[in-house]
Amino acid sequence: MAKRILIIGAGFAATDAALSAARLRALQKVSSDELEITVIAPDPVLTVRPRLYEPNPEKMKVPLLDLFSAVDVNFVSGTVTGIDTDDQSITFENRGNEAQKLRYDRLVLAAGSSLFRPPVPGVDQHTFSVDSIPEAVSLDLHLNGLTKRPDSPKRNTIVVAGGGFTGIEVATEMATRRRNILGPGGDVRVIIVDRSSNIAPDMGDEARPHITQALRQLGIRAITATAITGVDADGVTLSNGERIDASTVIWAAGMRATPLTACINAERDNFGRLLVDAYLAVPGVANVWATGDAAKAASDDLGNHTLMSCQHAKRMGAYAGNNAAASLLNVDPEPYQQRTYVTCLDLGEPGALFTRGWDRKVEATGADAKAIKQEVNTIWIYPPKADRATALAYAKPSSVVDL
Ligand SMILES: Cc1cc2nc3c(=O)[nH]c(=O)nc-3n(C[C@H](O)[C@H](O)[C@H](O)COP(=O)(O)OP(=O)(O)OC[C@H]3O[C@@H](n4cnc5c(N)ncnc54)[C@H](O)[C@@H]3O)c2cc1C
Repeated sequence: MAKRILIIGAGFAATDAALSAARLRALQKVSSDELEITVIAPDPVLTVRPRLYEPNPEKMKVPLLDLFSAVDVNFVSGTVTGIDTDDQSITFENRGNEAQKLRYDRLVLAAGSSLFRPPVPGVDQHTFSVDSIPEAVSLDLHLNGLTKRPDSPKRNTIVVAGGGFTGIEVATEMATRRRNILGPGGDVRVIIVDRSSNIAPDMGDEARPHITQALRQLGIRAITATAITGVDADGVTLSNGERIDASTVIWAAGMRATPLTACINAERDNFGRLLVDAYLAVPGVANVWATGDAAKAASDDLGNHTLMSCQHAKRMGAYAGNNAAASLLNVDPEPYQQRTYVTCLDLGEPGALFTRGWDRKVEATGADAKAIKQEVNTIWIYPPKADRATALAYAKPSSVVDL
């Protein structure tokens, strides 16, 4: 009977895991009858999450079936609801049908993350997000529909909760998009609210002035060291007692790893990510690897760790898939490493900001950085074309996201 590598998810990490496992299987001249690689996810589609703040979010997806079939990877449609590591099986549901079981010899957990909405009154009912295609589409429809409402400060105000990477990209995009929707005379107000004392707290002192300058240019107000304590249909209330009337509140703060990480009896961090070893295997749990946003790994030997980001998810995915296959093919596993770290932050009309290194040295700003952002968002993070030779060559772990 064929051995089975089962990969949960069809995102950045899972896709690259499947391709790299298929690459190693091909290099070892092992057939898919002897070693089966199966991906399980609700749909055979990669959602390009980093682009969901852009217009037309319904288009931000890539079909995967042709790519998988080019490299003999199977796809099962289903949402995994449980993992039994003693029995080496998972349980899944498919569109309301009875729960089914699937056995594995090696498991790669690559089911990603999702936005965490805190238990603040009204947040669940009254906030939009750009975390998934349905949520981003709902925001898009809402924004386009605002023109039909009477002009008022409330209609024209957008509050963005969170002044981190995603919050800034959303706010700068909204400032531009709302003006386009309302016309040049439109009195658009975009307000970022963040608990930290600084906007973009992780970006460092060299990069931050470029961000604050862009926010100023776009007329975006940043309220820092302040929490949102309530949201209702008419706006938000802040911890400093201020009330902001707003028809649009977008939650862009806080991510949590897939709840499936809790099915595995191993250590997790505050984001729910499984702490994995140098080979991205889960310590103390036989035959399980975790990767992408579902895992936290050392990214180098200088003390840096992976973040919930595409650049880490893709390369981690490639190493996890390779190493899961290696353990069935009697090949030595390869330690994951990713010494280079870059960020490219979209700032709307003023351009973008490109930094290199964990100390975030600014390498490009304005239109130059915007050109890099466009390349990242339209080429780097997309999977290879559905051609066997191209896909297998692409999936060499050390060359995935080689910056
Ligand atoms: C608005 C936004 C902007 C971002 N901007 C950037 C950026 O500029 N740069 C950057 O590097 N990163 C950015 N990110 C983060 C980046 O998108 C994530 O780090 C990346 O998507 C993680 O990839 P992943 O494959 O681990 O998980 P995901 O992309 O989340 O994919 C998870 C997959 O698992 C599947 N899945 C989930 N649960 C189950 C289940 N129970 N059963 C089966 N399948 C399941 C999902 O359907 C999906 O296919 C952004 C994210 C958002 C939301």
